[in-house]
Amino acid sequence: MQTRNYTRGRSGQSVVAIVPHISCCKSIGAIDNTFGPYSSRKVSTHYAVSARTIHQYVSESDTAWSVGNWPWNCKTISIEHVGTVDNPPTYECLDMGAQLMAEIARRYGWDRLELGDNVRLHREFAATSCPANMDYEWEIERANEYLSSSSEKKKNRGHDMEMLFYVKGEGGTRYLCGTNQHVLNSPEEQAAIETAYRKCYGEEIPHVVLDKVTGRNFISALS
Ligand SMILES: [Zn+2]
Repeated sequence: MQTRNYTRGRSGQSVVAIVPHISCCKSIGAIDNTFGPYSSRKVSTHYAVSARTIHQYVSESDTAWSVGNWPWNCKTISIEHVGTVDNPPTYECLDMGAQLMAEIARRYGWDRLELGDNVRLHREFAATSCPANMDYEWEIERANEYLSSSSEKKKNRGHDMEMLFYVKGEGGTRYLCGTNQHVLNSPEEQAAIETAYRKCYGEEIPHVVLDKVTGRNFISALS
């Protein structure tokens, strides 16, 4: 009974913008059920964020059924946020979204994110209030802070330290880019990072195995 709610490829279009959405879901698990590729609903999203994690359901090279407008589905990357109209996404959740937006922007060569340009809203494309009362302006500003701090670091140090790491006793691979870490959800994501790193820097991304420590301690140990 599984369905796969996305379309392979981008119908010849290029990605031109990120669309932040309010999911009307109270948890990332509820977003998994509603927007994941095996949901019975004919909707999907590339990513979902909570205060703690990022899930990916559709490859950026494929089209998610997310904005209710086919040409714009083909040209956008969608990010659903945990939150409802009554309890909009928290600033921790928006911060996670901002980190993801900045990471996407870097890969597409966008120096800044601008509403109306490379950030667009769902309600521009379909009869919806989405993203409702979510503070997307704060999120865009925060993403731009991540973008400008990473370009500063690049000037000073070549490039941010990046690695893939595995914590003993815990499943899954994590990706550290600069000071932010992301849990990877599929081998495809890991392969995409390895390929992108190789193309950018002409060498393999470091793979590191850690004894069990909390991510927070690990990050603070680095800085
Ligand atoms: Zn939406």
